[in-house]
Amino acid sequence: AHHFSTDDLRVLRTIADLTSIAIENAQLYEHLENLAIRDGLTNLYLRRHMQDRLTEEITREMRRNQELSFLMIDLDRFKQYNDAFGHMAGDIVLKTVAQILVDHFHEPGNLVCRYGGEEFCVLLPDTPKAQAIGMANELRKKIETREIILRRQKTHITASIGVASFPKDARSKEELIIKADEALYKAKEGGRNKVCG
Ligand code: GH3
Ligand code: MG
Ligand code: MG
Repeated sequence: AHHFSTDDLRVLRTIADLTSIAIENAQLYEHLENLAIRDGLTNLYLRRHMQDRLTEEITREMRRNQELSFLMIDLDRFKQYNDAFGHMAGDIVLKTVAQILVDHFHEPGNLVCRYGGEEFCVLLPDTPKAQAIGMANELRKKIETREIILRRQKTHITASIGVASFPKDARSKEELIIKADEALYKAKEGGRNKVCG
């Protein structure tokens, strides 16, 4: 009281109105951006965003002479799981695995994404291959031992993981993805629930 005149208040109200519109616009923009780069089911980044980040990271690692690792993860016999427990149960599994991934690779700079369907990928900047294989094996065990309760029934899922590193295995982004995919295929061929690199 007695500090502000009516004129002061008029000015302040105008500033407040403009500011609230700017904040609302910024929030809306952020929301739209998230819709464009994140998957609706798991809230993980989509493949497209990962590809953009991969390009940036490869350039950065080349400048800094560092190694970058890339993981391709595919759930084992997921079709059977869907057939046994239903598509909705399958969706719960995808969300559960997504959360395990986010927790496991929580270090800043790492990027977890849903590559499509029941496939995920992880970008690990400044991570040598041997270390990435170790992390992938820890992740594999976490997924294997997680109990997923569905209709009061304990269920389990496993995953196969392929690991490739830049510049050790590949000279380009495309080649890196192909190499990780080939390693994943080897893990499947080798009996699943495995890490290959
Ligand atoms: P493999 O061990 O060789 O990978 O066997 P798989 O059964 O996992 O492989 P396949 O590619 O034959 O099957 C993938 C299944 O994933 C088929 C599809 O129904 C299921 N799937 C893909 N996206 C979703 C999804 O968003 N929700 C659910 N519930 N299932 C999905
Ligand atoms: Mg698949
Ligand atoms: Mg699969």
